[in-house]
Amino acid sequence: MIEAVGLTKRYGDRLAVDHLTFTVKPGQVTGFLGPNGAGKSTTMRMILGLDAPSSGTVTVNGRPFVELDNPLREVGALLDAKAIHGGRSAYHHLLALAQSNNLPRRRVDQVLELVGLTEVARKRAKGFSLGMGQRLGIAAALLGDPKILIFDEPVNGLDPEGILWIRNLMKALAAEGRTVFVSSHLMSEMENTADHLLVIGRGRMIADCTVQEFIDANSELAVRVRTPEPTRLAELVTGAGGRAVPDGEGTLLVTELATDRIGDLAFDNGVRLHELSPLQASLEQAFMELTRDSVEYHAAVPAAGQEDRA
Ligand code: ADP
Repeated sequence: MIEAVGLTKRYGDRLAVDHLTFTVKPGQVTGFLGPNGAGKSTTMRMILGLDAPSSGTVTVNGRPFVELDNPLREVGALLDAKAIHGGRSAYHHLLALAQSNNLPRRRVDQVLELVGLTEVARKRAKGFSLGMGQRLGIAAALLGDPKILIFDEPVNGLDPEGILWIRNLMKALAAEGRTVFVSSHLMSEMENTADHLLVIGRGRMIADCTVQEFIDANSELAVRVRTPEPTRLAELVTGAGGRAVPDGEGTLLVTELATDRIGDLAFDNGVRLHELSPLQASLEQAFMELTRDSVEYHAAVPAAGQEDRA
């Protein structure tokens, strides 16, 4: 369990983290979402005692991180996967970490196996691909078999296979009852991974809810209706307080009216329906909507495949 109360970090006159109060619970993946510069890394660094809060508190299992007797056994973190000693092999990197933290040597082989690096464990980490470096970082986080795991943007720059692997790993760790706290600026990524969401913008909490609650609260649900009588149905919908806009031949997009209500309306008035399907807005849409005013850097014209940093 991670608990923050009024957590605040000020850099000069900039409030990087602004009075965040939240709880990250065990047994689920909690997504920490926000545009670049929202304050996610700063928050995670404060959780891990790498930065001191300007005010407020954050505890891990009820105590500040720096007061934990055996930090690596309680919290594992992946902050910057590039922070590896390049000349060392994966095995020796992990062994050094295990020895300096009083962890049994056998854990090294176990975590190497767990992240799929056993084959290349004796090779120098310098030659590792980004994905392998990421796996090594995760192996280090898992070394102390901690109940709490913190991952800062773990899928950044990974190929689809690597992304899927990390996604499944996070879910598996949560299913084992661990606390999994993962940050991302990619909403579409969290949609498939997280159970719970903490959304921040400009250091402030914007939403603290389940993925479904987030979508329900922040996106207008539309219903696609196909009928041989679109004009008649559009009139009925409007008469009942809904909105209907044409969406191709014989198809309407209806908003502000529930799916069941549209069906009943059609039935009661003898209008034949060929399709009645609720369209779920994606988390990406809902997120963009919500954080529009809090994005620190707006790319003028976001080009496909480019970083979204202006
Ligand atoms: P995120 O991880 O969500 O991208 P960060 O926590 O890295 O956001 O940054 C939050 C804000 O704090 C940004 O405006 C960033 O420029 C600022 N910031 C982060 N670290 C420092 C620092 N060491 N000194 C000054 N400003 C910082």
